[in-house]
Amino acid sequence: MALPALVIIALGLYLWLGPGRRTDWIDWRGTTMGTTFSIRAHVRPLGTTRLKALRADVDRALDEVNRQMSTYRADSEISAFNRAAPDSPVPVSAAFAEVCALAMDIASASGGAFDPTIGPLVRLWGFGPTPAVIEMPNAESIAAARARVGYTNVLVGPGPTLLKRMPDVELDLGAIAKGYGVDAAARVLTEAGVTDFFVEVGGEVLAHGTNPRGEPWRIGVDRPDYDAVPGAHLEAILALSNAAVATSGDYRNYWIDDQDRVRAHIIDPATGEPVAHALASVSVVASNCTLADALATTLFVLGPERAPEWLKAHYPDTEALLLIREGTHTYREVLTEGFAARTAYRPPQPDAR
Ligand code: AMP
Ligand code: MG
Repeated sequence: MALPALVIIALGLYLWLGPGRRTDWIDWRGTTMGTTFSIRAHVRPLGTTRLKALRADVDRALDEVNRQMSTYRADSEISAFNRAAPDSPVPVSAAFAEVCALAMDIASASGGAFDPTIGPLVRLWGFGPTPAVIEMPNAESIAAARARVGYTNVLVGPGPTLLKRMPDVELDLGAIAKGYGVDAAARVLTEAGVTDFFVEVGGEVLAHGTNPRGEPWRIGVDRPDYDAVPGAHLEAILALSNAAVATSGDYRNYWIDDQDRVRAHIIDPATGEPVAHALASVSVVASNCTLADALATTLFVLGPERAPEWLKAHYPDTEALLLIREGTHTYREVLTEGFAARTAYRPPQPDAR
């Protein structure tokens, strides 16, 4: 009789664990930083009251990042800094200073390909918080905006302060703040003892522990077709646990000029114009999403030839997948050395969705 008893015990366990596992997963959605966020998390040890408080803590953490780093808000710390006079230190929150310090490190390591003072050029090309009527900038207006761009014109520190070294310089953390928001929300979950979760802000992701099936999280990388519906066609599916992935590309936020050239929102500070090369998207895998987000934008500026070598030299603990445009819907894939192993990457299948 030993065998049936075991089966019954196993069935009992299944019935007990099965429905529990499903209902203990929460799905939270909302808006932040001018985009959407979503969170899935396994919250078994928490009661309803604690769960409500946790949701409030997550919302507060995201609001805090907005209040510090969003140029979409006139009352944010970053907007106040952008209005501030030069040559005297402006006190800011520790988090804002920390993100600026990382942005400056990456700016310096990339020879200014990544530049958090890019704002005037972003606006000139019709992007940013107050999208302009789109018209082709002329050489003079590009030169005038470029004169206001240069990461060495903002000093971070000592302590949590920022200082402008010339009047018209401003900060734009659009390439890094979403990733920081992901990390901030994840920190709230971790501090509450949650170990299996997925946090996403505007497509930038951090995956921890396992998914509801007890497996690594599966994250789709969109095929970077112009005007593609997000999630409609996937170029790759990555399996991730305890890692972040962020993607930059030219296929979501762009306009077409009168010579049929695509003009997207990532600007090459060296030319003052939107990046123009065959790279369609870059996905970076890193241990945290702030770094992944900033590096994805950096690699997008550096382009398909320089990006892989640069990443290996400067951030050897990170990996990248580059999708290089070959035809209208065809892409050549370039992976850094450890990308496949870290993400269980397989080349795209015809039915990959
Ligand atoms: P992402 O979607 O993370 O690649 O960030 C794109 C955003 O970063 C743009 O909308 C701009 O606000 C900003 N940005 C554009 N070009 C650069 C650049 N060269 N360096 C840093 N930030 C940039
Ligand atoms: Mg980025």
